[in-house]
Amino acid sequence: MPRYKLTDKQITRLINLYKNPHIPMDELCKIFKVSDDTILRAMKRKGLPRRVTVGFCGKKNSNWKGGYSLKYAKNVAIRTFKKNECVICGYKIATDVHHWNRNKKNNKPDNLVLLCPNHHREVHLGLIDKEKIIKNL
Ligand SMILES: [Zn+2]
Ligand SMILES: [Zn+2]
Repeated sequence: MPRYKLTDKQITRLINLYKNPHIPMDELCKIFKVSDDTILRAMKRKGLPRRVTVGFCGKKNSNWKGGYSLKYAKNVAIRTFKKNECVICGYKIATDVHHWNRNKKNNKPDNLVLLCPNHHREVHLGLIDKEKIIKNL
């Protein structure tokens, strides 16, 4: 039995797709019919850095810790608020998307809010309450 399930040709193709952060890991798993572990190992052998976006194959409700689902959430939030800025201070250079219920899988518009990194931190530290922010929206 071969040690690796991917052929050289597949690996070349995989490298190109892997470099595209818009393709989630579980999509790659589907395309190549291998586990995310196999992909990560193959990419490691090729000296590619571990992706930020890691989805898990085969598991329902895969909980992405990476940028992909957050990117989606951020897009929803930008569409909802029609601007990309901190709702508290209006800072535009960097915004985070915060999930009110701390559940990153819940990307419903009313669960999301855009915050600058500082205010995001303050929300997590409990220094700012939700009602106050919502009143200002
Ligand atoms: Zn702010
Ligand atoms: Zn948050």
